[in-house]
Amino acid sequence: MDATALLVGNYLHSYFESPAAHEAFIEEHKDEIKSSRKPYKLLKPYQQAEMMIKTLDEDETFQQFYQGDKEVIVTGKIEGVPWKGKIDCLNLDNNYFIDLKTTRDLHMKYWDTDEHKYVPFVTKYNYQLQMAVYRELIKQTFGIECTPYIVGVTKQDPPDKAVLSIPDEQLDWALDDVKAGQQHILDVRHGKAEPTRCEQCDYCRSTKTLGDIISIEDLVD
Ligand SMILES: [Zn+2]
Repeated sequence: MDATALLVGNYLHSYFESPAAHEAFIEEHKDEIKSSRKPYKLLKPYQQAEMMIKTLDEDETFQQFYQGDKEVIVTGKIEGVPWKGKIDCLNLDNNYFIDLKTTRDLHMKYWDTDEHKYVPFVTKYNYQLQMAVYRELIKQTFGIECTPYIVGVTKQDPPDKAVLSIPDEQLDWALDDVKAGQQHILDVRHGKAEPTRCEQCDYCRSTKTLGDIISIEDLVD
């Protein structure tokens, strides 16, 4: 995710956290989000963020749904490894939590090279794994099992929006993935193991050396 996309996401999140949080965010980032010339208008990506905010803010279902504690820090351990998360909106009275996600298009298809099929943006960015970890940390922190929902809002004009649920078995698989994969990540962090190369990301491209010759049939998964 590029820096602007991250800032746009934070801009939107701070709005739905509280008026004070949003004001503080704008003040802290005014050089990045506003034009340097009079009348100091919001730059294009943040005008778009305003549209995204408006479409949720004016939706009655969203207003009723996005109720609870905002930006709640939860901690816990998954098989002995410490984890920490921040819940956008936690409603312990009704056993659910919500994560706000900004995305290009709710219906965009991404090719999954492992599964050899198209997957939605939630799967592409492994958000179901994030939701599975949050659900576990909430359970450990408060002793309550909550259902995760993603409220997706798009950068289209006009923006699209939807409340998304994740099938239980996908959350269970995701938590199994965490348990199976976290030891290797810790080993890489502690210099005890080499990272697994994907040959697709910024890191892999920047550290690539020419080796094998690749058949054109293997270029695309
Ligand atoms: Zn890589």
